[in-house]
Amino acid sequence: MNKIKVNLDKKISASYEICIGQNIIDRIEMIIAKNNCASRYVIVTDSNVSTPHGEKFLTTLKAMDIDVDMIELPDGEASKNIDTVLNIAKKLIKMGVDRKSALIALGGGVVGDMVGFVASIYMRGIPYYQIPTTLLAQVDSSIGGKTAIDLPEGKNLLGTFYQPKGVFIDLSFLNTLPSREFKNGMAEIIKYGIIDDTDLFSLLESEVKAISDRDMALLLTIIEKSCRIKKRIIEIDEKETGLRRILNFGHTIGHAIEAQSDYSISHGDAISIGMVASAKISEKLKYLPSKDRQRIESLIRAFGLPHRIPMSLSTEGILSRLKADKKKEDNIIKFVLLKKLGMPFINGGVPEEIIQETIVELKDR
Ligand code: ADP
Ligand code: ZN
Repeated sequence: MNKIKVNLDKKISASYEICIGQNIIDRIEMIIAKNNCASRYVIVTDSNVSTPHGEKFLTTLKAMDIDVDMIELPDGEASKNIDTVLNIAKKLIKMGVDRKSALIALGGGVVGDMVGFVASIYMRGIPYYQIPTTLLAQVDSSIGGKTAIDLPEGKNLLGTFYQPKGVFIDLSFLNTLPSREFKNGMAEIIKYGIIDDTDLFSLLESEVKAISDRDMALLLTIIEKSCRIKKRIIEIDEKETGLRRILNFGHTIGHAIEAQSDYSISHGDAISIGMVASAKISEKLKYLPSKDRQRIESLIRAFGLPHRIPMSLSTEGILSRLKADKKKEDNIIKFVLLKKLGMPFINGGVPEEIIQETIVELKDR
């Protein structure tokens, strides 16, 4: 089991460890016990993860004499709302969960975001652990302490920054993960290669087949590299006031595409197209060499991720969503662009014509 320490500014949040390995689930309870931050635990999971993973985990913890219960939520983004939050809170009250208890988020990003949110507000905040079970959550949402739920007006509009007491990344969860979800996570891993680590990028290029076949040794390497990149960035900028924004590479256009498709396009697919678009804009503005743009596009395609915008999505619709993006400041659409592979920067403002031209060129004909 490998450990990565996330060192945070003590005045804001306590530091914690990310533990990564295969079949580490039975060592989790030792660490939980060592941390001794609660006398009682509640696992919150979803209907796809509870059998077999949740039940097995519950049994393991009970066998260690740990006082533990489990709450099961319906799966999927549709449940990431205030009703589910109230539902969880009411169940916790009914169970007698108090400030000496801790929550354990066992699931993908939806469970992680929501449990983190509940933990941050339940009785003014109780500890929680993240046990991410999707590749996307393992390399992205479980690390960094961003919590959120959706409103009918948009995604992730209510949330907090609230760091977990620990993150446990067990690769064995990936054995049951559907390939669509696996690809979602690969899109974020490709992003880390692009924004920070040319060695990771080259490794992905040379091992497409083995990684797609879920070679565990390779997965361990690329997940650990991804977590190290994210942890380094959040150590410097926990609350996303500067550097952390580079993690949004591909996400500005990606979010607009996701929303314009009414979320029928997955997050990984949308940011893949967004990354191709950002690389193209970087090339058009004469920052990024054409060969780097081509390598990005080829890698995305090699993992079976899309690199074109479906014709059915209106260019105007995507543009107006970009303009409405909450990260827009002073009417300027800020983008994370690239000077070369591994060298991102935040551009002060891309002219709207360039964005429009890029969207039109990327339409799938
Ligand atoms: P994400 O992690 O991509 O943000 P979700 O939390 O919605 O998204 O998870 C995606 C889907 O995968 C959900 O339907 C969830 O129930 C399911 N899921 C999560 N982990 C696993 C797993 N290890 N095996 C099978 N299905 C899983
Ligand atoms: Zn993302």
